[in-house]
Amino acid sequence: MADIGLVGLGVMGANLALNMADNGHTVAVFNRTESKTDAFMDAAGDLSARLVPCRSLGELVAAITPPRPVVMMVPAGAAVDQQAEALAEKLAPGDLMIDAGNANFRETQRRTELYQERGFAYLGIGVSGGEEGARYGPSIMAGGAAEAYARVEPILASIAARYDDEPCAARVGPDGAGHFVKTIHNGIEYADMQMIAEIYGVLRDGYDMAPADMAAVFDRWNGGRLKSYLIEITAKVLAATDPDTGRPMTEIILDTAGQKGTGRWSAIEAQDLGVPATVIEAAVAARSLSARRDLRQTGAARLGAAAGTASDPLGDRDSAIGRLERALLAGKIAAYAQGFDVMTQASDVWGWNLPFGTIARIWRAGCIIRSVFLDDIARAYAEAGAIDNLMLVEPFAAMLNEAEADLRAVVAAAVAQAIPVPALSSALAYLDTMRSARTTANLIQGQRDFFGAHGFQRTDRDGDDFHGPWAMGLGG
Ligand code: NAP
Repeated sequence: MADIGLVGLGVMGANLALNMADNGHTVAVFNRTESKTDAFMDAAGDLSARLVPCRSLGELVAAITPPRPVVMMVPAGAAVDQQAEALAEKLAPGDLMIDAGNANFRETQRRTELYQERGFAYLGIGVSGGEEGARYGPSIMAGGAAEAYARVEPILASIAARYDDEPCAARVGPDGAGHFVKTIHNGIEYADMQMIAEIYGVLRDGYDMAPADMAAVFDRWNGGRLKSYLIEITAKVLAATDPDTGRPMTEIILDTAGQKGTGRWSAIEAQDLGVPATVIEAAVAARSLSARRDLRQTGAARLGAAAGTASDPLGDRDSAIGRLERALLAGKIAAYAQGFDVMTQASDVWGWNLPFGTIARIWRAGCIIRSVFLDDIARAYAEAGAIDNLMLVEPFAAMLNEAEADLRAVVAAAVAQAIPVPALSSALAYLDTMRSARTTANLIQGQRDFFGAHGFQRTDRDGDDFHGPWAMGLGG
């Protein structure tokens, strides 16, 4: 009999099933399109001894030892509802449904309630690491009842990535908490990727650097404080050449970025919580604008090239490379500060009590944003417990003070040369606002009171409902 079931043998599901089998678990597998199950079994080699191919959900359920855990690895949305409903018809009370796709956490909350009422246990788990992570060790963020998680923890911990021999798998809270944390992980991932792409833009368009030379720069950075999976693969993407034409791959790939929803959800949830996540929002918007290629082509034709100044505020190429590295680090600190701030507010609003140190620890390996930087964040949480904003604690405050001038110079240089850097400039604006003891919101309050009698607080008196002399009848 199988220890666990898995529905959906796509890229992620197939690799998770192989990973489980590789770690000694017997897995019953089912896929809607039967031929994929056959192809999966054919390719499984020796691992097929621990894989039980099933032709129907009924067969799958019958193949698992009760109480049964069943993982669904299908696209978010209607497919999860269809599969969960079809499974509910076959499973017995006490069985455990696990949605391991990238679900919207609100849907996970709804499904958890729905299926718990019907006698099942339900977990929503975020799995990060892409195809390779799923096969050899992803980062796993689980949400749901502690008892439900405890039932599958040995399997999940055994397949997860490891950092310092610690599995990168944890229950982070109840119901939708795991999918929420995965959503914010992806929002941060969008911001990281966009800022790297912006730095690439400055090197390409500001310094006319060839992809192979840029690959060497990113490769070198990967030996320093920016060491991370995304910097590592950026170097590899830039170094690759197209086998058909011999040209650099980055010159062949069309500049329209795709997105499947998690980045957008992270920006929506940040807005909903009233937390500024401007770097993440800028990254989501940049992807959306990239996808509107026809509009950009029309814009390029109608508006022509910008009258950028030819000034070179970053200096020669070598000094510019050092400044770009530090600017990227500063932008990264702002993006992570925002992502953790969104999770902190969500944790309060939803009563999740999210374990931020644990979240940083399970992001150190397996997931797409894994980096040495996350080890710094994990240590900061271990030392401080609660943190208001990552930018304000060490070592990040000191790093920012060191790199702030470089971020400013890079944004200024890009603006002067008409190279768009929306995420880096959002990071700089966030940093500048965060260090402003007095912002310009006094004028906003004056405007609000003028047109809507919304009232304001004064700097010189207590109370929160003062009005200006423009109020009706006061001569405004
Ligand atoms: P995929 O390769 O497109 O595979 C989708 C799987 O879902 C296929 O097995 C498909 O079956 C099945 N499916 C689709 N609609 C279904 C339905 N209505 N009923 C039953 N089965 C259905 O997708 P994937 O990349 O593995 O992604 C799966 C989930 O993991 C998604 O939520 C995704 O966002 C998430 N995720 C993906 C990655 C990644 O890097 N790819 C990383 C983390 C998380 P058929 O063969 O019959 O079409």
